[in-house]
Amino acid sequence: MRQINRRVFLITPLAAGTVALHVPAARAALKNVEETEPKATAIGYRHDSTKVDRARYPKHDLTQKCHNCLAWAPDKPADEWGECDLMSDRMVHRNGWCSSYKKRKV
Ligand code: SF4
Repeated sequence: MRQINRRVFLITPLAAGTVALHVPAARAALKNVEETEPKATAIGYRHDSTKVDRARYPKHDLTQKCHNCLAWAPDKPADEWGECDLMSDRMVHRNGWCSSYKKRKV
């Protein structure tokens, strides 16, 4: 029978706990994106999907919002702001929209 290395036995749960403590802190440190930031203007991001320039983005429709986009990743489903895979260090509004919108399959 293999003996459990005492050092591994003690360090593994400690390391797992450290990761669990750091992930929420990293998310909490994210700022909300500003519509005027270059990364937002480059993809036509707006906090409010109803404010999207329909002439510039004719394929946009009012059902398309960050909270039903494939890239939306909030801590909790009802959160007002959440992470977006495209805005790596910023949060986007749940009713926002950008030209990279991709409908999430239910
Ligand atoms: S990729 Fe999706 S979640 Fe991210 S800003 Fe655009 S519409 Fe919102």
